[in-house]
Amino acid sequence: MPELPEVETIARGLDKHVSGDTVESVWIGSKKQPLKSPAAVIAATLEGKRIVRVHRAGKHIVFDLEGESRASQPTTKKGGRAARGQTRQAASLPTAQWIVHLGMTGRMVVSEPAAEIAKHTHLIAKLASGRELWFIDPRMFGKLSIHAGGFDPGGVEPLEVSEEAFVALFRGRKTPIKSALLNQKLLRGVGNIYADESLFRAGIRPRRRAAAITRQQLGKLRSAVREVLGEAIALGGSSISDYVGADGEEGFFQLQHRVYGREGEPCLVCGTAIRRIVLAGRSSHYCSKCQK
Ligand SMILES: [Zn+2]
Repeated sequence: MPELPEVETIARGLDKHVSGDTVESVWIGSKKQPLKSPAAVIAATLEGKRIVRVHRAGKHIVFDLEGESRASQPTTKKGGRAARGQTRQAASLPTAQWIVHLGMTGRMVVSEPAAEIAKHTHLIAKLASGRELWFIDPRMFGKLSIHAGGFDPGGVEPLEVSEEAFVALFRGRKTPIKSALLNQKLLRGVGNIYADESLFRAGIRPRRRAAAITRQQLGKLRSAVREVLGEAIALGGSSISDYVGADGEEGFFQLQHRVYGREGEPCLVCGTAIRRIVLAGRSSHYCSKCQK
């Protein structure tokens, strides 16, 4: 499952390859599962639009689109929020946004036009440059939707959160710190692996009650989260071309895990065997000596 660093890498790769390009036409397959907006709305919103920028919000890939919509106005489920009488500020806000969540097995591929549609392809956007943007997803947990602009998946961005705001997230929380880290309403995009690795670097056991952790330790944890995600993004950065290549091969280099998936193996710092516990149905790995 792609985590924040992978999604960031993919979004950067897509931004490099398709921003500035215009969508000429859209083909959408017959499977309904990945479509969180109606197929007609997705197609009509994308067609004729220029892709201004591709970026990440939490674990979502966001395409900022610009230009006259062929549809009347893109609608979202929360359609009421983009007030109808309100005039849109064209300069600062995109006309519309195309939101892609990769789910478990989703991929976005920039491809040369192919004679045959690859298996499990749910959407193809033909671009003015002659290239095509493919959304492929065998297991169909991925999601495609249209948003009117200003998409906000909730939670705060772990790479941008201030220390003050980070500390405030955990105030009064009786849940284990690991569960709080995974709570997408607090921090968006921190997954299981990166939560374990961050807690190890901060020296905090996953089961510690969030509210009981000192401000100083939380400061350390914030740094650790940023460090771990930052390192993973840096590793992914070198494989951008592989990730969005026409062959669709994944080329992400994984961060060297210090605890995750290393149950029973010696801690890289002190040699103690790494332990594994299950917290809220998820595996958690830690060193009983380095983490308190
Ligand atoms: Zn250790």
